[in-house]
Amino acid sequence: MIPTDVLVLGSGIAGLTFAIQLAERRSDISIRVCSKANTGETNTRYAQGGIAAVTDFTTDSFEQHIRDTLEAGRGYCDKNMVRAIVEAAPERIAELAQWGVPFDRNSKGKWDTGLEGGHSESRILHCRDRTGLAITQTLLRRAAGYKNIRFCPGLFIVDLLVRDKQCHGIRYVDPDSGKIKNSHAKITFLATGGSGQVFKVTTNPEIATGDGVAMAARAGAQIRNMVFYQFHPTAFAAGKSNPAFLISEAVRGFGAYIINTEGERFLFRYHSRGELATRDIVSNAIFSEYQKNEENRIYLDCRHLDERKFYRHFPEIANQCLKAGFDLFKTPVPIMPAAHYQCGGVTINPQGQTSVQNLYANGECACSGLHGANRLASNSLLEAVVISHGAAVEVASVIDHIPIVTFPENPGKPGRISQRKPMPNEIGKIKTRLQELMYIYHTGKITGDRTKKDITSLWELISGKTDIPGNTDNSTREFYELKNLITVARMLL
Ligand SMILES: Cc1cc2nc3c(=O)[nH]c(=O)nc-3n(C[C@H](O)[C@H](O)[C@H](O)COP(=O)(O)OP(=O)(O)OC[C@H]3O[C@@H](n4cnc5c(N)ncnc54)[C@H](O)[C@@H]3O)c2cc1C
Repeated sequence: MIPTDVLVLGSGIAGLTFAIQLAERRSDISIRVCSKANTGETNTRYAQGGIAAVTDFTTDSFEQHIRDTLEAGRGYCDKNMVRAIVEAAPERIAELAQWGVPFDRNSKGKWDTGLEGGHSESRILHCRDRTGLAITQTLLRRAAGYKNIRFCPGLFIVDLLVRDKQCHGIRYVDPDSGKIKNSHAKITFLATGGSGQVFKVTTNPEIATGDGVAMAARAGAQIRNMVFYQFHPTAFAAGKSNPAFLISEAVRGFGAYIINTEGERFLFRYHSRGELATRDIVSNAIFSEYQKNEENRIYLDCRHLDERKFYRHFPEIANQCLKAGFDLFKTPVPIMPAAHYQCGGVTINPQGQTSVQNLYANGECACSGLHGANRLASNSLLEAVVISHGAAVEVASVIDHIPIVTFPENPGKPGRISQRKPMPNEIGKIKTRLQELMYIYHTGKITGDRTKKDITSLWELISGKTDIPGNTDNSTREFYELKNLITVARMLL
């Protein structure tokens, strides 16, 4: 690949908004947006609930949004960052709407905002229950209008090219030859998303294997808060568990109850906000109920809600449940907590700068300090658009002073690697074992020490200290993803 001014690694909300903001400011620089799958296959696409922002100052205020974010983050948020992101929200929302994101409006023509757990006011802007899809489609349309943005789908990035604490681009799998090659750039923008695939039960799609944070760690970038992984309490428990279909928090904001096998709204035993407590509190309460009695099942109860209104707000959720045989208005629906959001990541400042020069990061792979120990619902999409804006302003002004430094391919590394062939058996088995271990650990059934020991043995298996029976090819995409997943698991522990 010929050298590029800016390499954007990831085509979710973080990568796309950065590319657009930068292209808007600098039509003279080349920008490539890379993604390991199709451009539209991202965590962003699956976001349901929406994006948090104060838009009605008669009922709500920045101070309230800040307070809710800090409370959810349990004392681990960066207060300055929280204020900066909350206060920048209205401008970025107006911009998204102007770009064409069809946020719902009420009969008076005002934003139709929803309520979610941990929020003291209705402040979630949404496009029914498919907000992520609507945002993705709008951003892809807009990005396609800039001649200097080029998309590179199906390009698997293996590592960052870092020398003397400066990033010069990436090592990637050439989709045509299958060889590992270098691609050089002045600026590299890491937007590779989260790592839900570390766990057996997750809402995250297959692409969420923590590649970005693992690459950044190998490159020596500062990483923080990885110990905080958020579980979402209301994943649908009667279908697939990986990825599990999410029943948005907004459904609880709309009035749904959470009940146990006895029909008790048990959450009030754990927190005065009941169903509207933050995700960590609700998920941990459900795990505690499981621990009391293995037979306990937990349900989302919508039977008392207005069916017509519900369908208007959540058509996708109602239809998905119906498809699986559950009529939300006749029967409670089984739910379970599922791994949902990586709160930690590559440390960044408000402009997205990491501790490695010319390496920027944003989105779920990064840690700005907004979320602390537990992300407030719908603050993730918001963080991505605000940081992308700051990063684009910064990069547009500094890029002319940065040279492109090229260096030869590393001859010591594997020459050929295959694209997406069936997962070699042993790699698949190790991945399943890892996902099971991490899920059981999170439910509190095994100790951290025991899990660390078991994960270390998995690491040793793939580090080549022991043979992986039947697996001679250590250079497949599956192998790299597994290595990244184990790296992330060790950070989470
Ligand atoms: C089901 C679900 C519902 C959600 N609902 C909400 C919500 O309502 N509100 C909210 O604020 N948040 C929500 N979230 C969280 C939010 O969607 C994500 O945190 C956010 O979209 C992450 O965006 P991103 O741009 O950082 O990463 P992503 O959107 O995940 O994009 C990652 C990109 O990186 C690429 N990539 C990764 N690794 C590599 C590699 N090695 N080589 C090349 N490319 C690579 C991928 O191909 C992809 O293009 C939800 C998440 C899920 C899963």
